[in-house]
Parts: sequence; C-alpha cells; structure tokens
Amino acid sequence: MEYRRTAVIKLDTPEGADDSLRETVEQFKHCANTASEWCWHDDDGYHVTSKAKAERALYDQLRDETDLTANLVQKGIRRAVEAIKSGVERLKRGENTSQPHFSADSAVYDKRSATFHRDHVSLSTVDGRVECDYILPDDSEIPPTKYVSDEDFEFRMAHLQYRDGDWYLHASMRKVEADEESSESESKHRTVLGVDLGVNNLAVASTGLFWSADEFNHWRREYEKRRGSLQQCGSRHAHENIELVGQKEYGRFEIYLHTVANEIIEEAVENDCSHIVFEDLTHIRENIPEATWQHVWAFRRLYEYVEYKAEEHGIEAVQVDPRNTSKRCSTCGFTHDANRSVESFECQQCGYENHADYNASKNIGLQYLRRRQNAGDGGAPVDVRLNRGTLNVSGEYVPPASTEA
Ligand SMILES: [Zn+2]
Repeated sequence: MEYRRTAVIKLDTPEGADDSLRETVEQFKHCANTASEWCWHDDDGYHVTSKAKAERALYDQLRDETDLTANLVQKGIRRAVEAIKSGVERLKRGENTSQPHFSADSAVYDKRSATFHRDHVSLSTVDGRVECDYILPDDSEIPPTKYVSDEDFEFRMAHLQYRDGDWYLHASMRKVEADEESSESESKHRTVLGVDLGVNNLAVASTGLFWSADEFNHWRREYEKRRGSLQQCGSRHAHENIELVGQKEYGRFEIYLHTVANEIIEEAVENDCSHIVFEDLTHIRENIPEATWQHVWAFRRLYEYVEYKAEEHGIEAVQVDPRNTSKRCSTCGFTHDANRSVESFECQQCGYENHADYNASKNIGLQYLRRRQNAGDGGAPVDVRLNRGTLNVSGEYVPPASTEA
C-alpha cells in the first residue's frame, strides 16, 4: 500500500535569505513563462506538449538568462509543459483556454535541488544553498508534524511558495507500507535508464533528457584549428605548444564529462533505476561513423565515469549490442532504414514519431531488458524508465501513477 500526503510547512528563513529566495522564484517563473510562450505560440495553432522538445529548444537559453541550477531550469520548463498539456486537453473538450501564465511566487523542488530533513530543508537558490528551519506545531498527531516527523513518510518533491510575507514548503510525501508480496516484487523489480551516445547530442537518456554536444564540438574544432596552425610552424616549440593546448582542452572536456556523468546518475537515482544501459563501446567507430577520435575518447571516458560513480549508489552500468537501436521503433519494434532520417525518427509501420536519439535511448534500455529476459531471469518485472510512465519489455506503455495527494 502506498500513501501520499501533502505537508504544508511554514519556513523560518535565515537572515538575508529572503532576497535569494525571491530572486530564485522570480527566475523560476521566468523559465516557466518563457517555456509557456514558446510551447503555446505556433503559427498553425499547434502546441508543443513534449518536455524533451521544449528542453532542447530552451534549456541553453534559460541557463544563460538565469542563475538557476540545471535542475531548476528543467523544472521550470516542465511545469510549463504540464500546464500546456492541461490546456490542450481542455481545447480537445471544446472548452475555452489561453496560454498559461505563471504569476504565483512558487518554484518546484525535487531531491536534486533540495535536501529534505526532518526539521529543516536545504534549498538551491541563485546564491547557492539556503537552509530553512521548519516551523511545526508541537502536537505530533496533527499534520504537517504528523507526516514530517514520521520517518516512514518520505519526501518526494515540494513547491516553495511565498504568501503574505512568509515562505511555505508544500511537500509531497509518500509512505510505502510493505506487505510481504509487494516487498518481494519490489526487490526483483528492475528499472533501467537507457543512454544513447552521439555526435550532436553527447548523450540522451530514455527519460527524455538531452546533453548537447555543441560545447564539446566547439572546443574540439578550436583545438584542431590551433593544432593545425601550430603544426605548420613545425618547430620543437610549436610541438610543445600543441601538447599544452591538448592538455588544457582535455581538462575542460573532462570537467564537462564529469558533469554529464553526475547528471546521468542523478537521473537514474531519481527514477529508481537499478541499471544504466549504454551501447557497446568496442565497435563504436563502426556504429557512429561520424564520430572523431575525440568523440570516441569522450564516450569511453563518460562511460568510465558513470560506471565508477554509479557504484556508490548501488547502480550498475552495463553495455548492450547496439545493432538496430537507431532503426528500430521503440513502440512497435518495426525495424527499417527508412524509419530514421538524421535527427528524426518516424516509424513506417505504426507512425510513432520522436527525436531519433531519444528513440534509440529507449531501444538501448529495452535491449538490456530483453537480454535479461532471455537469460531466464525468473520472470522478474522489468521496465525502461521514460519521461512519463514506463515501457515494459513487450513495449506496452504504463502511465505514471498520480503524484497528487
Ligand atoms: Zn512503430
């Protein structure tokens, strides 16, 4: 049995934190409103309801325009997309609606942007982390104290809200009461995160998160240019310079790859994944003919980082045979060259359309699950974690459970 409750907790903000929180909420609203504008407005009346699409279009811009962390920017975009989806539902029912606008002073936090404790919370802001104590009624039988003090209730996410001069946390809490049957299936249950590697997007996760390779490709080209001009000099001094440039660029690449690796792991932790699945890197040059040696180096390094760091979280990084992962439809399984055209995937059989790398990431996850099932793994339930709901091994879509209290 699973119980969900919303605990409304008044916060005791430290001296000087008010400005940081206000600015954070302001910038969060900016992300949501920018995304709403972008998703809603379209010449032909088409409204974007794909989080992945909105993130691809807006993420870099909003990171530049705000001082928010990656996670809060994503949450801002996602909040808008959810509102757009509701709007589109209303339109379908013939009801009147208009572009969603976010005016309430509120921001969405999850376990990456906040650390929830039993007596205080640490919130990510434009000025770094801010720690706020909870102001809770003493009576432990009365909400919110009842839930906050109960260790069986786990914090899932929260809305930070400003009302009449005070800050509140609207925390979604969950309690799982394990009876024998469910705890057994829980332990066998396997959910995986599929990751597709590529030259335009360095990595794409089956939850719909994209890590663009733009920055990486820019550095790579700069490096090649400088190396080319230095090589023309040919002197020993020039040769030394090439090595220096190389070292500096490697350093930058490595820092970037560490960030990507951390975010992939956060995504897996957040989605309760037991495995992170990559394509087999042994023949990566054949699988991705446009990959340069720097890309190959980056893919291997990224895998190493993920493998190493995942261990700390009890998550295993694995590799699978990548054959057909880019041509196969992740919805119906139909495999054909014509399904894929550069970055877009359109199944010639069932009509499923999505970003080609995203489709591939789902196939990579499914590939691993099929392998486990064929290995006669006792028939444990297996899923690929997607951005909404999960996909099981037979390709059936399971919608997400309601997150409302
Ligand atoms: Zn299909």
